Amino acid sequence: MDKPAVILLSGGLDSATAAAIAREQGYALFALSVDYGQRHRFELEAAGRVARAMEVRRHVTLRIDLGQFGGSALVGAGEVPKDRDPAEMEREIPVTYVPARNTVLLSLALGYAEVIGAADIFIGVNAVDYSGYPDCRPEFIAAFEQTANLATKAGIEGRLRFTLHTPLIDMTKAQIIRRGMQLGVDYGLTHTCYDPTEQGVSCGRCDACLLRRKGFAEAGLEDPLEYGRKG
Ligand SMILES: [Zn+2]
Repeated sequence: MDKPAVILLSGGLDSATAAAIAREQGYALFALSVDYGQRHRFELEAAGRVARAMEVRRHVTLRIDLGQFGGSALVGAGEVPKDRDPAEMEREIPVTYVPARNTVLLSLALGYAEVIGAADIFIGVNAVDYSGYPDCRPEFIAAFEQTANLATKAGIEGRLRFTLHTPLIDMTKAQIIRRGMQLGVDYGLTHTCYDPTEQGVSCGRCDACLLRRKGFAEAGLEDPLEYGRKG
């Protein structure tokens, strides 16, 4: 039997790559997606496509409507910034930050992992080409791993020693894309844009689109997604 691992699957490029890496390491994947009140459905649809392509053992989608708190452009509170330059992205945590998102997501993943007896949790966070979110940093991941082992029955009884895997954390977007391509990830299945059209066409101008396009350009590879102009 392959060892089980929980993978947080957003439908984006990073989590698809993290899933491919986990699969290559021989884990049986249990995917978790969270419908947290995103502005659009395309991300979750993409998560379903990626889960099928990765032949996950099971894919659970939980609905936890963080939009009821507001507080982020990603759940509809305010406009998604466009055309920011990379230096600006590093300087300032943008309005697309979802308050405590990765803490919420990892807590859910931990609950799922404890139930299925999985000691390993994969999350596709990245601290290089990112928007400066505090919950993507290695310090946070290390602290949460400690929490996981303190907070669970399986951890306290010593039945499971939880490990948080962040295979992308030190990689540039270009390195992530190259690695994913080697592993056969079809990035045409993924969705990255914060602010797509009603038809799901990516804007090409939000932080997420800009980092993705820069990554493909630096990797010297073609992005299978199409981008429209909007706004
Ligand atoms: Zn976009």
